[in-house]
Amino acid sequence: MQAAGENQKEALEGTLITISDVLEYLFCPRFIFYMYCLDIPQHEEKRFKVQKGREVHETRKLTNRDHTRKRLNCKRKESEVFIASSKNHIKGIVDEVLFLEDGTAAPLEYKFAEYKDKIFKTYKNQLILQALLIQENYNIEVNRGYICFTRSNNLVKEIAIKPSDFDKSLKIIQEILDVMNKGVYPKTTRSSRKCIDCCYRNICV
Ligand code: SF4
Repeated sequence: MQAAGENQKEALEGTLITISDVLEYLFCPRFIFYMYCLDIPQHEEKRFKVQKGREVHETRKLTNRDHTRKRLNCKRKESEVFIASSKNHIKGIVDEVLFLEDGTAAPLEYKFAEYKDKIFKTYKNQLILQALLIQENYNIEVNRGYICFTRSNNLVKEIAIKPSDFDKSLKIIQEILDVMNKGVYPKTTRSSRKCIDCCYRNICV
């Protein structure tokens, strides 16, 4: 007979969630349950994917990428890189992986947005997950990431990433896997404002 841990390991084998799944989960943990356990899709395309498509399109038109790279003391970069980690069960696309002069690497994410004196948590979480993937796949230290605000004249903001940020992200990934594989019904979002225009509000208690 297999131990519970073995069963869990087998169930997880091959499970890869996307960075946008994690961002959805952080927005409201129940989205994952409705989408993956009850198989009820959201009416519209996933909100973070919609944003992303628009950003990529606009970014290609607006950004002088080499200029940005020089400003950041970057030796080399790779663009639109798909990275997956079977160990950590996550996959995603990084706009740019920058290889910096100090021997570290960093994700750079373009946002079709203005900078308004604030870095949203979603942006930081996205960078942390990208950093996690870069660190593992390239075997290189990642201790910061960058957001380029294309509607603020390509203003670039640096965001520090600490080991504790990786620990928190891994914990969140594990929570999502528990929802998907064990059918754990998550708590509601803490902000009921989010429920007002949510497509699941009729079935969500
Ligand atoms: S109704 Fe509210 S709690 Fe339920 S899934 Fe939508 S946002 Fe989350």
